[in-house]
Amino acid sequence: MRTRIIAGNWKMHKTADEAKQFTEAVLAKLPKSDKVEAVICPPALYLQSLTELTKGTDLHVSAQTMHEAKEGAFTGEVSPAMLQSIGVKHVVLGHSERREYYNETDETVNAKTKAAFEYGITPIVCVGETLEERENGSTVQIVSDQVTKAFQDVSAENAKVAVIAYEPIWAIGTGKTATAEDANEVCGAIRKHVETIYGADVANAVRIQYGGSVKPSNIEELLSMEHIDGALVGGASLEAESFLQLVEAGANA
Ligand code: PGA
Repeated sequence: MRTRIIAGNWKMHKTADEAKQFTEAVLAKLPKSDKVEAVICPPALYLQSLTELTKGTDLHVSAQTMHEAKEGAFTGEVSPAMLQSIGVKHVVLGHSERREYYNETDETVNAKTKAAFEYGITPIVCVGETLEERENGSTVQIVSDQVTKAFQDVSAENAKVAVIAYEPIWAIGTGKTATAEDANEVCGAIRKHVETIYGADVANAVRIQYGGSVKPSNIEELLSMEHIDGALVGGASLEAESFLQLVEAGANA
């Protein structure tokens, strides 16, 4: 049985005080369950204080992005070595907003995925199609291609512990969720594709999240699906109560 993973992607939200209050509120009520892994993805600025605040708890802290190099002249960037040095264990890579606004490409996602493993950080690799691609029937081909490229030269041993987030771009922040059946179909196709690359062992182990307008009212149905192992959640992860409901759903699914 794969451990579900519920990750709250804060994007560019919350002041330092709000970040601390949210985290304390979540820690006070976080369900104890080995069926679900709870992760928050705060802005880079709060990674250190929040890894300290959550140390020894079941709440994990993830970066929203990182550079692939260990260090260098890359103004404004954060490296995997830096994340490792403060105890960050997860990083979201290739989010569609990074691909759209910050030149993230399949090649950089691949370089970052490899770098994450090198530093003992679990990548949450995002893939997803545009509305146009969905309408012309190329969804499975697009996401499979993104997976192939992201995992180029990644060992089976590493791929096994990776997380893939299937996030249809048209469903992010729009209130439009893919139906649970559609989301499951694509997550299943991704798992099949992972099997063609790495074999059944890795395909059965890799965790695949759905993301795109997930909220407490629709998460149960999504998590009841065979191939959906969790959710990457933006808007509905910003309030502690709502995030806790999402984690509860993960524990009870
Ligand atoms: P959303 O964002 O839940 O606000 O649609 C999801 C994401 O971008 O990861």
